[in-house]
Amino acid sequence: PVVTRFAPSPTGFLHIGGARTALFNWLYARHHGGKYLLRVEDTDRVRSTVEAIDAIFDGLSWLGLDGDEPPVFQFARSNRHAEVAAELLRHGHAYRCYLTPEELAERRQKAQEERRPFRIESEWRDAEPSAWPEGQPYVVRMKAPREGETVIEDLVQGTVTVQNAEIDDFVILRSDGTPTYMLAVVVDDNDMGVTHVIRGDDHLNNAFRQLVIIKGMGWDIPEYAHVPLIHGADGAKLSKRHGALGVDAYRDELGVLPEALFNYLLRLGWGHGDEEIIAREQAVDWFDIAHVGKSPSRFDLAKLQNLNGHYLREADDARLAGLIQPRLACDADADLLTRAMPVLKVRAKDLNDLAEGAAFLFAKRPLEMTEKAQGLLTGEARGRLAAVHERLSAVSGWTLEGLEGSLKAMAEELGLGLGKLAQPLRAALTGQTTSPGIFDVLVLLGREESLARIGAQAD
Ligand code: GLU
Repeated sequence: PVVTRFAPSPTGFLHIGGARTALFNWLYARHHGGKYLLRVEDTDRVRSTVEAIDAIFDGLSWLGLDGDEPPVFQFARSNRHAEVAAELLRHGHAYRCYLTPEELAERRQKAQEERRPFRIESEWRDAEPSAWPEGQPYVVRMKAPREGETVIEDLVQGTVTVQNAEIDDFVILRSDGTPTYMLAVVVDDNDMGVTHVIRGDDHLNNAFRQLVIIKGMGWDIPEYAHVPLIHGADGAKLSKRHGALGVDAYRDELGVLPEALFNYLLRLGWGHGDEEIIAREQAVDWFDIAHVGKSPSRFDLAKLQNLNGHYLREADDARLAGLIQPRLACDADADLLTRAMPVLKVRAKDLNDLAEGAAFLFAKRPLEMTEKAQGLLTGEARGRLAAVHERLSAVSGWTLEGLEGSLKAMAEELGLGLGKLAQPLRAALTGQTTSPGIFDVLVLLGREESLARIGAQAD
């Protein structure tokens, strides 16, 4: 059975690249009826924070990417990691290296002076355990193979070959006895039964080192899928400079729906023909690793906003009303907000647009006017508004059809285009020059409020 995992380091928010890695792991597990696990790689005690852990879980949960089991916390497993290091030592796959930091620095410097790459060549590699000096500090290093080559058949990158001479005797246990990241990842993946390691291709080099440990322990080698990182529109690796935000910022600041971000992240580096709109169920059905592209994908905010617009129009109106309520400065009636959604969401690309569009409904009299709206309320226009007020006061019922019929008839009688009435009317009703259709506005505001707003601007 397939077991995948997402293993974030909680040193910052859940960024867009991490969220996509989580998504691919989730989809792969779902598609194959397997399990998707979470592991918090919190071994960097200085940089790992509770806030980051909360933000990551919060973001995953919002995207519907909760783990199938309670998360594993890596730091809590340090003893287990050290146990494995001891076992590797016992079997001669690792060795105690007593080179001091000073000796290492000296060698590094010498290599630099001689302009050759620095490689650890520790004389302790082949020392008998009986020769280990007791009581002196040491690190534990893996005995990496020096001849031959290692091949990974990566599900995304294809065949990747590395000369073993390039793999150094990396440290698995520090001199204070704490395990390194390289060791912890391998032990945890094994113990969690991970069958497929899907992660950013910045970890591809690590995989070759991790394999040394896996082989030393005689464990099953997982399948690897190293996914290209996301780049900005300029082709450089995505960073804050590109406006790359945490998932929470897409939700809170940009007003993006989770299903839109889900769809967007899915299409970022993976495709199914020309399909752009791919919802959750369909994604589970279609997802495969073979169609993850080998080259980095570029982040495109406009595309995300387009998708978001699509999902806004699909979304339930009461749900949207609930989402934009906290974005409005005032106490907004949920029922009115819900009824306004169909006309507001036609053009909106995010929740902020919706909130802005809805604001006029809850504005207090006297309405604040934009300069343009004020400009429309000329003496002549105010006279017309008085006539409109009189006319609409007499309308029985307050329906779209009734109002439309009445105003059109009036425009005709006056020999005016409907716009000549609708423009000042819009200004009076909304304080703006753009809004949903004027009859929709009248219906949403209702008879009493509409007449009061018109009356306030009429002569
Ligand atoms: N914790 C690592 C990271 O955040 C991921 C390690 C892995 O997936 O093997 O980049």
